[in-house]
Amino acid sequence: FTSKLPTVGTTIFTVMSSLSKQYNALNLSQGFPNFEIDAKLSELVAKAMKEGNNQYAPMPGVPALRKAISEKFQKLYQSTYNPENEIVVTAGATQAIFTVISAFVQQNEEVILFKPAYDCYEPAIELHGGRVVPIQLKHPDYRVDWTEVESKITSKTKMIIINTPQNPCATIFSKEDLLELQRITENTDIIVLSDEVYEHLIFDGQEHQSVCRFPELKKRSFITASFGKTFHATGWKVGYCCGPQELMNEFVKVHQFNVFSVNHPVQLALATYLENEEHYNQLPEFFQQKRDLFLDAISGSRFSFVPSQATYFQVLSYDDISDEYDVEFAKRLTREFGIASIPMSVFNENQLDFKSLRFCFAKKEDTLLQAADILNKI
Ligand code: PMP
Ligand code: GLN
Repeated sequence: FTSKLPTVGTTIFTVMSSLSKQYNALNLSQGFPNFEIDAKLSELVAKAMKEGNNQYAPMPGVPALRKAISEKFQKLYQSTYNPENEIVVTAGATQAIFTVISAFVQQNEEVILFKPAYDCYEPAIELHGGRVVPIQLKHPDYRVDWTEVESKITSKTKMIIINTPQNPCATIFSKEDLLELQRITENTDIIVLSDEVYEHLIFDGQEHQSVCRFPELKKRSFITASFGKTFHATGWKVGYCCGPQELMNEFVKVHQFNVFSVNHPVQLALATYLENEEHYNQLPEFFQQKRDLFLDAISGSRFSFVPSQATYFQVLSYDDISDEYDVEFAKRLTREFGIASIPMSVFNENQLDFKSLRFCFAKKEDTLLQAADILNKI
């Protein structure tokens, strides 16, 4: 047979987490918390199970959760999504992203993608015969030159994918960035896929600029989100997708056949849990403290960095430490020093950024201090 994805290997997250396990290293590679979820949330799941909600959920998600998501958009961004037909609960953001791409991208159509990019977009585009048009952003500020983006738009451009807050760079798009995106897509048929899984993890008093805050942009945009990221439960794989009804109609056509519906008791628990705004409003401070603790603790190390603006990742550069290629360096740190990270080059075109590593700081305080002890010795 001919492989449909001949250049795709095993994702770096699996590679580094396995290596970390093999060498019993501290795992700051794959992005997941090593602390427990809120006990209230697990009690709500247990309750929903005990009450017998263990069969298929409704196809687009339980009504109470869609309503709670809609209310959150209203409260945070004064933006209206109809819970009836503009919000679908998905098996994590990954399935939402794949479904958007699957529903829209056709053979030979182009999708503009900013690099460094999280790794799940590109294979989905290729599987559907689409062509990735990469725009490489550069360390350390990763700013977008929107005239460059405009120059890459052709009659074949079907979609532009953005990810703000951005994994792995830990940067955010400003209001001006979104206005530029709105401007260059106006009067086109381009669809925007806005991956906003880290919407609540944003620091130093900055604001998340969701596409839904820009009315013309909102008309052409899907937003994808992840409860795994928001509520420290990456293993649950529950998220959602929203967009204008006309676009969501197409989304649902695919969703109903690639997953149909997702985890029923977890959806019911999340619906109740979302009623208390504090559960998401406290997240910036919670993660900013972790970022600051980690960065303070490594301030004397030989790594250099620009503090993360958002997400739970921190990029550290090792120009002063080694000339090794980052994939080799990350593996050696895991084997010899007992700390695992993600080499940044895997997210890039042409192995740019090759002397920096991404560390996840969604960890308990003592794990972060242990990690800092190791990094200070490198
Ligand atoms: N998008 C980005 C930018 C991510 O970092 C991740 C990883 N959580 C996802 C999507 C996938 O989210 P989920 O685990 O909910 O599928
Ligand atoms: N989003 C997580 C990260 O960036 C990884 C999820 C996965 O393993 N696919 O580290």
